[in-house]
Amino acid sequence: MGTRRGRERLERCASCGRAVPRAKAVEHSKRTHFTTDLKEDNVTYTGFSDVYYCISCAKHRGIFEIKKRENARKREREMYG
Ligand SMILES: [Zn+2]
Repeated sequence: MGTRRGRERLERCASCGRAVPRAKAVEHSKRTHFTTDLKEDNVTYTGFSDVYYCISCAKHRGIFEIKKRENARKREREMYG
């Protein structure tokens, strides 16, 4: 039997398609918005889907900045709230 370190799950970067270990992937909740404009119905779905980015794509897209801001806000609330 081979010694496989296969416990780490791989996620696919939503931007460049590279496989990234979950530990290094940057999770980002993306709001998805669907509109079906059919004759009889006009339905709008809004939902969140989790996407993953590799670190360089996350940097490029400013996701780290968003995360930082979110974390800072959370921390502030914990400290002063
Ligand atoms: Zn990427």
